[in-house]
Amino acid sequence: MAWDFTTEPEFQEKLDWAKEFVTERVEPLDLLYPHRQFYPLDDELRPIVDPMKQAVRDHGLWACHLGPDLGGEGYGQLKLALLNEILGVSSWAPIVFGTQAPDTGNAEIIAHYGTDEQKKKYLQPLLNGEVFSCYSMTEPQGGSDPRLFTTRAERDGDEWVINGWKYFSSNARTARFIIVMAVTNPDISPYKGMSMFLVPTDTPGLDVERHIGLLNEHRDEGMHALIHYNNVRVPAENLLGGEGDAFVIAQTRLGGGRVHHAMRTVGICQRAMDMMCERALSRETQGGILAEKQMVQSDIADSYAELMQFRLLVLYTAWQIDRYKDYRRVRKDIATIKFLTPKVLHDIVWRSMHIHGALGASNEMPFGSMWAAVPIMATADGPSEVHKVTAAREVLKAYQPSPDLWPTEFVPRRREEAKAKLAARLEHSIANA
Ligand SMILES: Cc1cc2nc3c(=O)[nH]c(=O)nc-3n(C[C@H](O)[C@H](O)[C@H](O)COP(=O)(O)OP(=O)(O)OC[C@H]3O[C@@H](n4cnc5c(N)ncnc54)[C@H](O)[C@@H]3O)c2cc1C
Repeated sequence: MAWDFTTEPEFQEKLDWAKEFVTERVEPLDLLYPHRQFYPLDDELRPIVDPMKQAVRDHGLWACHLGPDLGGEGYGQLKLALLNEILGVSSWAPIVFGTQAPDTGNAEIIAHYGTDEQKKKYLQPLLNGEVFSCYSMTEPQGGSDPRLFTTRAERDGDEWVINGWKYFSSNARTARFIIVMAVTNPDISPYKGMSMFLVPTDTPGLDVERHIGLLNEHRDEGMHALIHYNNVRVPAENLLGGEGDAFVIAQTRLGGGRVHHAMRTVGICQRAMDMMCERALSRETQGGILAEKQMVQSDIADSYAELMQFRLLVLYTAWQIDRYKDYRRVRKDIATIKFLTPKVLHDIVWRSMHIHGALGASNEMPFGSMWAAVPIMATADGPSEVHKVTAAREVLKAYQPSPDLWPTEFVPRRREEAKAKLAARLEHSIANA
């Protein structure tokens, strides 16, 4: 029997270790050093974080999204999903386990498309957890439709010269380098006329206009940059992949990233459920605890059902990626979990927050960052609407229009067909009697 929902005991041991390690050692960093995870380690944090990264390596859990050739464990996406559920509850955990976005996706594309020289210079320090990177694709005038991008890279002798604006480039503040998508040939289809470049952040002309913060962050904490590329010159060898390859590279990068967000969201939703249930059992009102009120029970049952459905689809999608090793073949389910992610997060976090009453609306509970994650998950790596269109298109590929005016399930016709079949069988039985 091939369908099996168990985890092999050796890996379960690793998951158990990771769970305790995140709770006991990593989550204190979230509480004491919030928003510091994407800054290079200073003298205060290095003695704390470096031994934690070593412990993760010693337990064979470092950079689990990567294969052994790149210093990861090569466990595949299904095991990564189980691990990411644990890491999703902590903002520091992905750093400590070497699986933080956007570095994961950036490492994947340099590994895929980079030259040996590029891998040595940009990939290796990234894999060692020594530096951060940034991905610069979205522009102020358009994000979900890359055909609207205008940032231009022009060849000038042995160099490329980049000019234009990019918006919401995460972690540009602390990144060592940026992967920039730019138009290299405006006269052909954008799908073939854009290329990717590796640009060190100290390159002259790379001007950060401002760092934009998220809903739950203070004004000075923003990590998402509006960047002006103002005659930024990079050597010709900084082209990543071939000229015109940007779309293909972007798809390689975003496929994995979307699944990883969903995996971490399962963990966040589970945490919200745990809080909801504890509160329902603890809080009393109008002659009984909340857990005895039917409307609260309805919230708990709905949340459980939504979380279980979502988790199973995330795990099934991860399993398919491992099996087919082809993101395109799993496109339908990747798109589906991408648009389900903010929806399930929204529903479960809202119910949990609301059951906590005023406390839920306060900054003395961790709902602020969970709630802020809803619009992020609905937008980052493409808005839900775009993924719904993809999912619907993929679903429709399995269907044909009905052969005539009436649907194939039109009952009067089916009844006639059934009568004809039965009559033929009756004749056959009479003839053989
Ligand atoms: C936290 C965060 C981090 C990010 N990090 C990066 C990064 O590192 N690098 C980077 O390049 N970008 C990054 N982005 C940007 C992200 O990729 C874009 O926000 C996304 O592609 C959508 O683009 P937009 O914001 O311009 O929205 P728009 O394209 O303006 O879309 C706005 C809204 O229009 C609607 N819409 C859009 N298309 C359709 C459609 N086809 N049908 C119906 N409705 C539609 C949707 O409601 C959508 O939310 C990040 C975004 C967030 C929130």
